[in-house]
Amino acid sequence: MADTSETPAVGVPERSQFGEPRHVIDPPAPLRAMTIQAHPDDQEFTVGGTLAKWAPAGTHIVTVCITSGGAGSNKYTPADMTSAKLVAMREPEQLAACKVLGVAETVFLRYPDGALQHTLELRRDLTRIIRRYKPEVVITGDPTVRFYGSSYLNHPDHRAAADVALDAVFPSAGTRFVFEELLAEGLPPHEVQQVWLHGSQQPDTWIDISGTLGTKLAALQQHTSQLGEWDPSSMLATWAAEQGAAVSLTAAESFRRMILSEG
Ligand SMILES: [Zn+2]
Repeated sequence: MADTSETPAVGVPERSQFGEPRHVIDPPAPLRAMTIQAHPDDQEFTVGGTLAKWAPAGTHIVTVCITSGGAGSNKYTPADMTSAKLVAMREPEQLAACKVLGVAETVFLRYPDGALQHTLELRRDLTRIIRRYKPEVVITGDPTVRFYGSSYLNHPDHRAAADVALDAVFPSAGTRFVFEELLAEGLPPHEVQQVWLHGSQQPDTWIDISGTLGTKLAALQQHTSQLGEWDPSSMLATWAAEQGAAVSLTAAESFRRMILSEG
């Protein structure tokens, strides 16, 4: 057993032996990473600083956007806006944001915004993409978080996207006879090594984004249809300070990291 300091988890029949110490700061950038998000702009709000740090370090990053944000109206949305017009704006905004961050490829699955569900169809689609791009690390949200503070109900699309993403990682992507039709497409199993959950209430890993907070802001500002006249800079700085405080960093993005296998 790698970590004898932890109390064995009674009643858990299968448990990873890859124990790592808690409170890891800036582990090495992976060679290949994939983020899986529900909406355009989710990635920029949550993990843009990390991606902006990893891309120049050589990480090949693929962004998967499950919906194209057709329900993203707010007080800045013109009265004559339609969902189709929004999609036509938001995909280019996401592409521009990805360019700022150094993302290599962006994939839109075009599921309906606001009505995302945990379906086998979506799990198969995500499994296909994971097998195609072979990421070491998959980044997504934490599907177990129902509430943030006392004023934000975690969006059902966020929970569904993260939940299906985890099921696509394990067992679907790495198991030969789950979605056998993918074998016929020339996509053999691929084992993702690590899953990083943003927005987790049990973080154990931090990325110092003091050098990339400005890039994160610049990427978020590409989502002009959503921001309107709002300047998100102080909110991003506050979030980064709050996440970094636990490990004495001035600006960080925090994650719960699951280590499924070692490369
Ligand atoms: Zn969202």
